[in-house]
Amino acid sequence: MKTIKERKGIGLSEILYGKPVVESIYADLRERIDRLKEKGVDPRIDAIRLGSRPDDMAYERQVKNSCAKVGISVTVHELPDTITQEALIETIDGLNDDSKVHGVLLFRPLPAHIDPEAVSQALAPEKDIDCMNPKNLSGVLVNDPDAIPPCTPEAVIATLKFYGKEIAGKNVVIVNRSLVLGKPLALLFLNENATVTICHSKTVDLSSVTKRADIVVTGIGRANFFGMDYFDENTIITDVGINFSEGRLTGDVDFDAVSEHVRAITPVPGGIGTVTTAMLLTHLVNSAEKSLF
Ligand code: NAP
Repeated sequence: MKTIKERKGIGLSEILYGKPVVESIYADLRERIDRLKEKGVDPRIDAIRLGSRPDDMAYERQVKNSCAKVGISVTVHELPDTITQEALIETIDGLNDDSKVHGVLLFRPLPAHIDPEAVSQALAPEKDIDCMNPKNLSGVLVNDPDAIPPCTPEAVIATLKFYGKEIAGKNVVIVNRSLVLGKPLALLFLNENATVTICHSKTVDLSSVTKRADIVVTGIGRANFFGMDYFDENTIITDVGINFSEGRLTGDVDFDAVSEHVRAITPVPGGIGTVTTAMLLTHLVNSAEKSLF
């Protein structure tokens, strides 16, 4: 079986790598951050980590590395995972009130004794760079320009646009109806004038629906689930799934079976996941720019 790297440039399909998308976003962010620093604003993310779960530590390293590449400062607030909900909300209130803090990132999932909804609502919407506060989600619903959308749906749209894929008027099928992915992504696609269908585990005859689509977004969390029977040679696939299978990171799409037979496909790893962090940093810089006014 060939790895994605070995397959680069082979076959009929266009492989929509995340790296060039990220490089272009970072080039733009570096210029904007330089301008902010000239005006005395030092863009800063404050991350709150409860305990030291390996997943959180890995994500923290990734965020720190990405921030270092563009010149964003990161302050990590390491708190015990036994912290009370009240004390956590007090910490969030302090960051909400601190004008030097432009965005707050809270590593999830939270410990079971903490109500995620109460905590999400405590976070000031304008500093909620990871779209936890329902006010930001509802802002996406009414197309509020100040609403901060979730990063992964935005990464899907940014990737398609970067590669010049037309969205307006296209039939888009999203296989996921979660609040972090499918529902907000459907709204973002609608804002781009696509015709959108959302599918889920109760959808009947899924392959007949995905086969009619111009663009399919997969996000079901099942390794190599989608083979060529779900697509045709004109399909553009954005695979959001992240799965570990046989010691490898894979998407929901059987990349080896599909990637030479469709119009375009994002790889896993190296696709949408790569662009997601760039969207988080974009939200931070937007927030830092707004702090000037
Ligand atoms: P989730 O809440 O479990 O949602 C999964 C969705 O897939 C649900 O809507 C579910 O339908 C649907 N589904 C499951 N099995 C299906 C099947 N056989 N046929 C059709 N639909 C099916 O998960 P999530 O948090 O949205 O994440 C989904 C995937 O995206 C995961 O692999 C996750 O790791 C990945 N992800 C990636 C990023 C990134 O940056 N790339 C970010 C977030 C998530 P029901 O609603 O009917 O149950």
